[in-house]
Amino acid sequence: MNLLIHNAEIFTNDEKNTLLAGQAVMIEDSRIVEVGDASAMRKKHPEAEVLDGRGRLLMPGLINAHMHFYGTYARGLALKGTPKNFHEILQMLWWKLDSALDGEAVYYSALVPAITAIKKGVTAVIDHHASPSAVEGSLDRIEDALALAGLRGILCYEVSNRDGKEISRKGLQENERYIRKCRSEKQKNPDHLFDAMVGLHASFTLDNDSLEYAAELSRTLQRGCHIHLLEDAVDEQLTREKYHADLIDRLCEYAILGPRGIAAHGIHLTETGKDILAQTGAMVAHNPQSNMNNAVGRTDIFGLLKRGVLVGIGSDGMSADLRPDVRTAHLLHKHDLKNSNLGWQEIQQMALKNNPEIYHRISGQPVGKIAPGYLADLILIDYDPPTPMTPENFWGHFLFGIADAAVNTTIVNGRIVMQNGELPGIDEAKIAAESRKAAKAVWERFSH
Ligand SMILES: [Zn+2]
Repeated sequence: MNLLIHNAEIFTNDEKNTLLAGQAVMIEDSRIVEVGDASAMRKKHPEAEVLDGRGRLLMPGLINAHMHFYGTYARGLALKGTPKNFHEILQMLWWKLDSALDGEAVYYSALVPAITAIKKGVTAVIDHHASPSAVEGSLDRIEDALALAGLRGILCYEVSNRDGKEISRKGLQENERYIRKCRSEKQKNPDHLFDAMVGLHASFTLDNDSLEYAAELSRTLQRGCHIHLLEDAVDEQLTREKYHADLIDRLCEYAILGPRGIAAHGIHLTETGKDILAQTGAMVAHNPQSNMNNAVGRTDIFGLLKRGVLVGIGSDGMSADLRPDVRTAHLLHKHDLKNSNLGWQEIQQMALKNNPEIYHRISGQPVGKIAPGYLADLILIDYDPPTPMTPENFWGHFLFGIADAAVNTTIVNGRIVMQNGELPGIDEAKIAAESRKAAKAVWERFSH
């Protein structure tokens, strides 16, 4: 299908933050093929379907670098008792919740935030999934949900030994199966919506055999590992107690960290740990809202960026939108370090440039820019700037205006998946009702 978008202010997200007026974007199938003078392009492509931007802002869709779709089912869930620390939050909430998920719950807990993501202008998500009672085929269930909503994604299964050897082996096999499936789909179509990584929970819940198997998968299938890294000091402490090793040394010994892999958080890295992490080439996903919610500390994004680490932003399941985490990142570091001048350049770089680069490094797909050859993952935002908007001050408009603005239209892979706030073919009320039914059953298993 050919689609011509005109009558929009275009933020291309190139290195210069170029803004274009009076221009149009031509999409052929899944990719952008031309950006140029609007009236000339309308004459040149009379056959194309035309989308009138009505003066809205057209920009590349946002990318979430670390997500847990199943986190949806923690919403409103009552805990027995009050967790006293991060390890207890995992034990009393997350590990009980993921154990209670069945296939139906995996599907609906992904479908609801996938729809929200589309509505909030997120066009691609890197997810990290766990459902130890329903491992096999779980990534297909998530893929089905994303495909229905029209969302792009990189999926993985979070392997852990916390439920025993058999479940960890199943998790590794689920990663392997799904990586192979995506690889075969991408051989047919490089713009295929889905890709995969080797998912791992965290060093302190993974025995040596699991790390060795994961590294082997990563090497033979050429896909990086996606792992939580030093989200809390308990990761380091229990790694020492159980495996008698320094955490970073251990992950390096098994080649878990590498240029195609994501380390989520990295809060409790030492200075030497940051140096070693930088040497591995691993990417880092910073999740400020989740870190504040768990009160686990603050990632030294400045120290990591200075060392050349590709640091992006994720929501860690706190939100299907990325913009709340972007604004939280903007506030958190200034507040914590009592310096109101921090982070302007860095947070902008992470949200707008590094997240697409992370997605590209893993999947090979060109996303995050409005230029010929890039995937047509675009959003039209109801943003009519009340003050002059230029490439130099675009970030100020993003943080304090665009971050709160309604998304009118979302396009993924050249397909309009939302227009005027509506997702064609999606009955949101029916899906929410089905989701509540699946969640109720999960919550009953949770409290037994
Ligand atoms: Zn996470």
